[in-house]
Amino acid sequence: DGYTTCQKIKANPETADIPVIFVTAQDSSFDEAHAFTMGGADFISKPVSPAVVRARVRAQLTIKAQADLLRRLAFVDGLTGIANRRQFDESLQAAWSDTKRRHEPLGLIRIDVDHFKLYNDTYGHERGDACLQAVADALKSTMKRGLDLVARFGGEEFAVLLPNTNLEGVLSIAEDCRRSVEALQIPHRSSSTAKTITISLGAAVLVPSQQTAAEELLKTADKQLYAAKQNGRNRVAASAE
Ligand code: GH3
Ligand code: MG
Ligand code: MG
Repeated sequence: DGYTTCQKIKANPETADIPVIFVTAQDSSFDEAHAFTMGGADFISKPVSPAVVRARVRAQLTIKAQADLLRRLAFVDGLTGIANRRQFDESLQAAWSDTKRRHEPLGLIRIDVDHFKLYNDTYGHERGDACLQAVADALKSTMKRGLDLVARFGGEEFAVLLPNTNLEGVLSIAEDCRRSVEALQIPHRSSSTAKTITISLGAAVLVPSQQTAAEELLKTADKQLYAAKQNGRNRVAASAE
């Protein structure tokens, strides 16, 4: 029946956001309260007038468009236009449970722009912002698969989530990222690492288990990022514990 259909639509994450309008027969024992509980958005009673249907559908589409816009604003970083920290945290948790169920490896890369404070001091904060935008674009265009996610983790730090990717794959993407930022050739005259903007990367791969949490992957990658900085910056350090 209509209630069950609506409930099923709402239970599937891929269809949950689709507004459902019930069309109800005049004489029926239709229970509006119950339909609301099952996720219904609106009701039209028979006989159906096309003008009313159009208006009701339009109203639902407007609400949906507004919700989509808010969601986009909430999950996209304002400066760079890539995923923000909130999106990253959600995607990490989702990817973690997915890969745990499938016994697949989950890869993570943490990225930090080298000598970025000096870049701001040398060229000004506005050029710093433009530099972060260019780095974000470069990282994003390095991704090959639809599920791979690049996010601005905060400040001049980025993170890449690579579902179902082994260490070899993660290392290869990390090196691609490093090279793509180097290839931007953004001058950085105060850097002691290179004449241009560079990044350091810490990579980690884990096959999720009951005993581990997603935070462990973040921590391991962060340790590797620290190692990359210690070993001279503009490089990748990795761990596959
Ligand atoms: P290291 O190579 O060790 O990473 O050195 P660093 O200077 O990059 O590291 P530090 O963490 O000391 O400096 C980060 C700088 O990034 C400081 C901060 O002002 C700058 N920053 C963070 N967010 C933004 C931003 O949105 N725009 C600009 N222009 N600068 C930012
Ligand atoms: Mg930093
Ligand atoms: Mg830095």
